[in-house]
Amino acid sequence: MKAMLLDRISLVEEKPLKLVELPAPIPGQNQILIKVSTCGVCHTEIDEIEGRISPLRLPMILGHEIVGRVEKLGQGASKFKKGDRVGIAWINWACGRCAFCLKGKENLCDKAKWTGKDVHGGYAQYTLVSEGFAYPIPESFNDLKAAPLLCAGVVGYRALRISGMEDGGVLGLYGFGASAHIIIQVAKYKYPHGRVFVFTRPKQKEHQNLARKLGADWVGSTDDTPPEKLNCAIDFTPVGEPVRQALRNLQKGGRVVINAIRKTTSIPELDYTEHVWYEKEMKSVANVTRRDAEEFLPLAAEIPIVPETQEFNLEDANEALILLKEGRMHGAGILKIDG
Ligand SMILES: [Zn+2]
Ligand SMILES: [Zn+2]
Repeated sequence: MKAMLLDRISLVEEKPLKLVELPAPIPGQNQILIKVSTCGVCHTEIDEIEGRISPLRLPMILGHEIVGRVEKLGQGASKFKKGDRVGIAWINWACGRCAFCLKGKENLCDKAKWTGKDVHGGYAQYTLVSEGFAYPIPESFNDLKAAPLLCAGVVGYRALRISGMEDGGVLGLYGFGASAHIIIQVAKYKYPHGRVFVFTRPKQKEHQNLARKLGADWVGSTDDTPPEKLNCAIDFTPVGEPVRQALRNLQKGGRVVINAIRKTTSIPELDYTEHVWYEKEMKSVANVTRRDAEEFLPLAAEIPIVPETQEFNLEDANEALILLKEGRMHGAGILKIDG
């Protein structure tokens, strides 16, 4: 099979992913072999390539927003049949026995494996997953539009739930890339009397225009003061400063949820009175559970979410990641993998 392989930690600008030919993997006990059709490009890949969160071993095939069809069943696998269309997300496996798993918090499992970090992911023509960690894809989404739902959508959905947003409230979204442009659609649907304020990098006109098109009630840049305080905010940016800005703009008792696996810069020093006092909270969202995916995918079809996607060939994964790093991706970047 063709795959784009990472064999060393380096800057994304050095285009480290190499196109290689590898044997297709063989499904083990309870696993299924997936013929990959599309795979989303996520900011986490940039963190992996640049070593802020290291793959378990190198070389590694990255990619955790995978849509494809079941090609082969391993021994004991019975949940799907050959030809079924399924999705794979960031959570690739969890132990099911630890204190976290038993409480439904498999996103915090110490033994969990993450797709495209601990096991090979979807920047390839074929990949493996345990059948319990694959999800049916609603029919209304084609392979291209389904891919960004699997991380940008599912993790964003978890962040929105954790934010404590209520109908009638004001939600702030910091950064307006793949995840935020999906989550604004969920928020508008679930909280019809709520308002959504969007903060982007200064002069990021394309992202600001997309935010307005998707119903943002106010759009500005990350250092702007919005017309009203925020009841809650989700920070999707890769840097530290917007966390402080969001805390500053929070209403009393409000919460900032940070939706990023790593930050490229530190969160600057906080002033207790300005950023923390009045019961303000800050919380990260770590990974996802299967339940997040199982709840979100049908909801995405019901709304229905319309993802903006920019398409690339598998061979052009390096170029897609550079665009994403520069903040120039329009909506979600998706690799199309032809068989
Ligand atoms: Zn991701
Ligand atoms: Zn566990």
